[in-house]
Amino acid sequence: MKTPDNRIVIIGAGLAGLFTAIKLAPLNVDLITSKKLGYGTSSQWAQAGIAAAMGKDDSIISHLKDTINVGGGIVDEKIAELVIKNGPDRVRDLISLGVSFDKNDQNELILRKEAAHQHNRIVSVRGDMTGREIMETLTSVVKKSKHINIIEGYNAIELHQNKNKIFGVTIQNDTSQKFLESNCIVLATGGIGQLFKVTTNSKEALGDGVGMAARCGAILSDMEFVQFHPTAFDIGLDPAPLATEALRGEGAKIINSNEDRFTYKYHEAGELAPRDIVSRAIFNEQKTGSKVYLDCRGQLGNNMKDNFPTVYDLCIKNNINPIHDLIPISPAAHYHMGGIACDEYGRSSVDGLYVCGENACSGIHGANRLASNSLLEAIVFADIISNDIRINSNNMNIGNYNYIPPKVKKLDMSDLNRLRDIMTKYVGVERDQKGLEKAFKLVKDIYLKYNNSGYKNNSIITALLIIKSAINRTEHRGSHYRIDYPIKNVALTRRSKITYEELKI
Ligand SMILES: Cc1cc2nc3c(=O)[nH]c(=O)nc-3n(C[C@H](O)[C@H](O)[C@H](O)COP(=O)(O)OP(=O)(O)OC[C@H]3O[C@@H](n4cnc5c(N)ncnc54)[C@H](O)[C@@H]3O)c2cc1C
Repeated sequence: MKTPDNRIVIIGAGLAGLFTAIKLAPLNVDLITSKKLGYGTSSQWAQAGIAAAMGKDDSIISHLKDTINVGGGIVDEKIAELVIKNGPDRVRDLISLGVSFDKNDQNELILRKEAAHQHNRIVSVRGDMTGREIMETLTSVVKKSKHINIIEGYNAIELHQNKNKIFGVTIQNDTSQKFLESNCIVLATGGIGQLFKVTTNSKEALGDGVGMAARCGAILSDMEFVQFHPTAFDIGLDPAPLATEALRGEGAKIINSNEDRFTYKYHEAGELAPRDIVSRAIFNEQKTGSKVYLDCRGQLGNNMKDNFPTVYDLCIKNNINPIHDLIPISPAAHYHMGGIACDEYGRSSVDGLYVCGENACSGIHGANRLASNSLLEAIVFADIISNDIRINSNNMNIGNYNYIPPKVKKLDMSDLNRLRDIMTKYVGVERDQKGLEKAFKLVKDIYLKYNNSGYKNNSIITALLIIKSAINRTEHRGSHYRIDYPIKNVALTRRSKITYEELKI
């Protein structure tokens, strides 16, 4: 690196950011996180685990097939193969760092099954505590690592480039702003769930990394594809806690106020149908005014304390006894398949800007994500990116630049709430042209309010890019459901691309 003290900047300290930082040793790293290290991430809430073809009866080909099958015809197969092939080694890396995945009496990893996987291949920790265990382990490794300088409580607000080459990032907290010069930045700011009213994502998942990269000139891909998880707790909490899919695998039923198992009207697999179908079934049931519940009563509820301790604790804390009581549920924005486009090295279209984790769009998920493939993608790309940086670090020059301090503002609470209402109403589980156009206009009004007073906001840009991409895709594919175009259009079997300029705002 030709920066004064050879520093690489990583923005975001979820699984993607932490694992990249650890892997970059002994290169010096500044790790920026908007919260205290270990907090404010979606990674810590991940329940089910990491998909990796490690079973005796499993194979890379089988995992690849499953990934392609759910991806709506637009999975980048080369990338998917790359990620899946490297998965088992990266899981072993996590084990060597101290993550204690569940093992059987013969000291072999216990591999669990999830929806749409043909084989048992999910490594997990105590049933549903995977994210917490991984994050606690990696956080403690990072704290002990001399090559990592942790900068807590700062938000990255602007990436700076000159002639499409990164030269630094501006970060700010409530009282100060700083510029960090670097020609090598890894963006790992996570998802976009908080742009919607009901979401399982942490409060920090405002999509600001994606908007920031877009303003810096990066190409975005597949922005229209947002996965809604069908079974989030509907008890007024934000984020809405997740009732893991594995519960349905164990026999939990989805019922309405009349106790009908209505999901069978939508798909022969009922509760075990793909996520988008179950989400739409629940959404439509709610439209009729009915409440929807997860029914774990009886033996499943009785076993929950041991087998699903996270969900059990949530129930008890909220006065729900799963042995006797129904759990109110609703679909919730859960995962963004789209993001900043990257190649097989995790490089974005801006020189020196790498992207890792949920804010990246490598193409492995296509139009829909196979369960437990996202933590997998994060750990594999963290390794790939750190190797690429190591190889290229001596060839990266910072060059001359002219730094202009940016003016970027958080959304006021009332604007954020308005944005979340608009996104949920018009850009949610079901979409149509009229609603999307209305959403674009309403969100653009919020954008202009900030712009006209001299400020940028990154989350608004991300929302506009999602809406525009959803307008452009006039079909139903994967998680993107258009009521006005309810079938797949073969002519649109391709990944989408969009840039900030194309918003024409
Ligand atoms: C409830 C839940 C359960 C899940 N279960 C699974 C599962 O079982 N298996 C699976 O594969 N996937 C699962 N997922 C998805 C998976 O957890 C996420 O995709 C993954 O953890 C994302 O990791 P990340 O490091 O990219 O982002 P995150 O873990 O969200 O971390 C993002 C980081 O960026 C920081 N940040 C954000 N913006 C800024 C900014 N502007 N400046 C500075 N810092 C910033 C945040 O504070 C945070 O530190 C689940 C998701 C949720 C919400």
